Amino acid sequence: MKKNDIAPFFAALKAANPTPQTELEYTTVFELLTAVLLSAQATDVGVNKATRRLFPAANTPQAILDLGLDGLESYIKTIGLYRSKAKHLMETCRMLVQLHGGTVPRTREELEALPGVGRKTANVVLNVAFGQPTMAVDTHIFRVGNRTGLAPGKNPLEVEKQLLKRVPDEYAVDSHHWLILLGRYVCQARKPRCWECVASKYCDFTPKTLAPATGKKS
Ligand code: SF4
Repeated sequence: MKKNDIAPFFAALKAANPTPQTELEYTTVFELLTAVLLSAQATDVGVNKATRRLFPAANTPQAILDLGLDGLESYIKTIGLYRSKAKHLMETCRMLVQLHGGTVPRTREELEALPGVGRKTANVVLNVAFGQPTMAVDTHIFRVGNRTGLAPGKNPLEVEKQLLKRVPDEYAVDSHHWLILLGRYVCQARKPRCWECVASKYCDFTPKTLAPATGKKS
């Protein structure tokens, strides 16, 4: 993607969705951290279904610890990899209580030191909770970054670095949401829905797909 096309690409996404949000449901920073930790290799819909039951029962590190491992597992067992996620969440809650007074720390180093919290999870929390212009590269952003030519890279870290370098400051905080939503609903893995993409004019992918009714490509 040419440098001059990057700002219009994001302007088009912004015009269609001025205030993009995460689809994970949360009301506190700790709830957000918990939801993101549970969301690895799971859908936001599946995580929300579990946390709608979990959070009314326990939405602080101490309350999760008080549930005990078995109690926590009973709330999240519909989520893939729930056993290891439950273990990580319990250990994370223990560290939050012992080292951070029960609050979620605001630095990458402290976040990544928590069990089950990798670079991507830290990036989501720093961005969504603390408004930092971080880029949490998931499978959708990795695909969109490469396919559009916006941020080509062989692995998530390369794509992340390209995005940090290329996304204009005014779009930096919200850009990861726009790219996730674009990838999830329009620029889908098997067949991008270019015919309904608001940013197609600025995307390098060719040939663009047309609506199935025509069966043609341009
Ligand atoms: S035009 Fe097509 S390939 Fe490009 S971002 Fe939109 S949906 Fe994806």
